[in-house]
Amino acid sequence: MKKIIFGVDLGGTQIKLGKFDFDGLIDKYAIDTNISDEGSHIIPDIASFIKGNLKKDEELVGLSIGVPGPVACGVVLGAQNINWLKVDVEKEFHKFFPNIIVGVLNDANAALLGECYFGSGKGYKDLVMLTLGTGLGGGILIGGEVYEGATGSSGEVGHICLERNGRSCTCGLKGCLEQYVSATGIVRTAKEVLLNSKEESILRDKDLTSKLIFDSAKVGDKLAIEVTERVTDDLACGIASICNTINPEIVILGGGVSAAGSFLLKKVEEKFVNYAFYSLRFSTKFALAVLGNDAGIYGNYQNILGKIK
Ligand SMILES: [Zn+2]
Repeated sequence: MKKIIFGVDLGGTQIKLGKFDFDGLIDKYAIDTNISDEGSHIIPDIASFIKGNLKKDEELVGLSIGVPGPVACGVVLGAQNINWLKVDVEKEFHKFFPNIIVGVLNDANAALLGECYFGSGKGYKDLVMLTLGTGLGGGILIGGEVYEGATGSSGEVGHICLERNGRSCTCGLKGCLEQYVSATGIVRTAKEVLLNSKEESILRDKDLTSKLIFDSAKVGDKLAIEVTERVTDDLACGIASICNTINPEIVILGGGVSAAGSFLLKKVEEKFVNYAFYSLRFSTKFALAVLGNDAGIYGNYQNILGKIK
């Protein structure tokens, strides 16, 4: 029998599933997430999909799932997007597959683990990953292990205070880093810059997106450059706070905003030295994430590999 591991990335609208053997990815799939009835269909849906996608000569030995909420000791402590309260994932999956190894990770931590073992973090044991999307997520790996924190809330780097009494954040606090460097934060900064200047700009009267802002800066638009300078300075300041605390070998930037690529990375790296403590100022490496949307399924695969070996 061929031993199979499933890596699952559970999102609010879609569930991504990766089927792996010990050599790597065999196939990947996506199914819709049914969040009705307190999300009680999610685990049975995943279990029946996996059962239907195992060949006669294949045996499921492990399954790990990444969820959009805090996780501690294998228990999900609530995930609003999928209507979960406290769910003991291992217990629930064992009802369908009694003899397999079950793992559960916070989704950002799963992406971190995937990127670390199969992406641009390969070979590093202490790293930080920031996911710059609509919000700003993060994950911390120490000594090759995901650091979850006492209540599963480590890596909430989006809510580092960048500016006291600054912009209101969805979390209820003020001045959170996320409000300045996420896709939404970048657009907000651009609006401020446009409002305070009379200078001509490609950005005027446009539907602003972080992509348009970075693209305009790349072709030399003066106001777009001002926005990207501010945003990358904010980001560098936030990253330095994290690095001054845990001193990672490498910082990986992922998520939609990181599509701005080396332009973004270079600016952040340059500005980082202005905020980082001297002993880590020039030793901290920076890289872009490479696995994109697959990072989660790879991270969950690694979670099981780590438990088997
Ligand atoms: Zn916040």
